[in-house]
Amino acid sequence: MVDEAPARIVPCPQCRKPVQWHPDNPWRPFCSERCKMLDLGDWANERHNIPGDPDDPDVPGPDEE
Ligand SMILES: [Zn+2]
Repeated sequence: MVDEAPARIVPCPQCRKPVQWHPDNPWRPFCSERCKMLDLGDWANERHNIPGDPDDPDVPGPDEE
């Protein structure tokens, strides 16, 4: 049983800064609250576009030919 595994280092999804993946880091996988909020802002601005969004009228349905 391992109580103290070494902290993993992951790149912050927002700024690519190395972040310690640690239970004490409330913003993981982000480096800070700021980056977490920036990422949420990206989602709100639809920069993370999901192809085939059923709400998108430009996407043809399966019956459309
Ligand atoms: Zn960051």
